[in-house]
Amino acid sequence: MISVIIPIFNEEGNITVLLKRLTTTLSSCRKNFEIICINDGSIDGSLALLLECQKSMPFLVVVDFYRNFGQHMAILAGFEHAKGDVVITIDADLQNPPEAIPNLIEKFDQGYDYIGTFRHHRKDSFFRTYASKMINWIREKTSHIRMVDQGCMLRAYGRHIITQIIKTNDPCTFIPALAHQFATRTIEIPIDHFERHSGESKYNLYRLIRLNFDLITGTSLVPLQLFTICGGFLSLMSTVLVVYLLARRLFIGPEVEGVFTLFAIMFFLISFLIMGVGIAGEYVGRIFLNISKKPHYIVKRVYKKLDGEEKIIKLSKDF
Ligand code: UDP
Ligand code: MG
Repeated sequence: MISVIIPIFNEEGNITVLLKRLTTTLSSCRKNFEIICINDGSIDGSLALLLECQKSMPFLVVVDFYRNFGQHMAILAGFEHAKGDVVITIDADLQNPPEAIPNLIEKFDQGYDYIGTFRHHRKDSFFRTYASKMINWIREKTSHIRMVDQGCMLRAYGRHIITQIIKTNDPCTFIPALAHQFATRTIEIPIDHFERHSGESKYNLYRLIRLNFDLITGTSLVPLQLFTICGGFLSLMSTVLVVYLLARRLFIGPEVEGVFTLFAIMFFLISFLIMGVGIAGEYVGRIFLNISKKPHYIVKRVYKKLDGEEKIIKLSKDF
């Protein structure tokens, strides 16, 4: 069985076309399938549209979040509900064509348990494309995760990877990177990339920075270690400077002209320290999120057609 998971945040312009193209593609795979859409606190007509589609699509499950919890939390919620042997994630905006899914299934049938994709001829802004290349490079150097394009969300995971991810209960994590750590046989295949079918990207600069901090601190301790090494080196250099100034004062006499140089050095050291506190804070924040009892996301309702019945059940855990 194939499970397809789609996070949805204000995507009313894409849902109908997406579900249509997905259904045609999945039907051609000759396997059972389900499509799980997670409505991540949309404030447009996305939920109503999904429920409308569900009337003619019994394989469609709609998980409705209480508010916006972010794309990756939505995918995690999708994992909780997925029943498939292979679980596929795809964005709702049709930037990655659903028609590529059979290629992923083929690789899964060949024994791969993590099938990633990379975008050739990426159709995003110049800034997004190059910022993403830079983060790819940093991740490549600071972690043991090897993937060409971490940002491409059309991916397929074997069931055991999903089980492990649910078990770790790790919040705010970059899912492709997390999944990669549990994979045994990985492969990446190229896919086409298109401009958004409708609507705008849901990521502004702040959200992108947050996401990438999560990626780096979630997969690597290298920033902390680098900071410690630089800190050690700088304190050694500062000691040399202090000894030199002391000796100068004793043998040549007090100096006044060098005051601004000293200020410059001080500012440098202080800003370096502040950066270190920030990096340490990122990790402390992760620990805090991990140990806090707060749920990572809250599901308001799950809309699901019961087998063979027309009735739609509205499960609600907390409401
Ligand atoms: N998304 C979401 N919650 C959010 C932001 C995005 O569920 O808070 C969904 C969005 O609806 C889309 C996918 O995540 O299906 C990718 O978002 P987007 O296309 O805006 O990201 P980009 O392609 O710009 O990286
Ligand atoms: Mg997109």
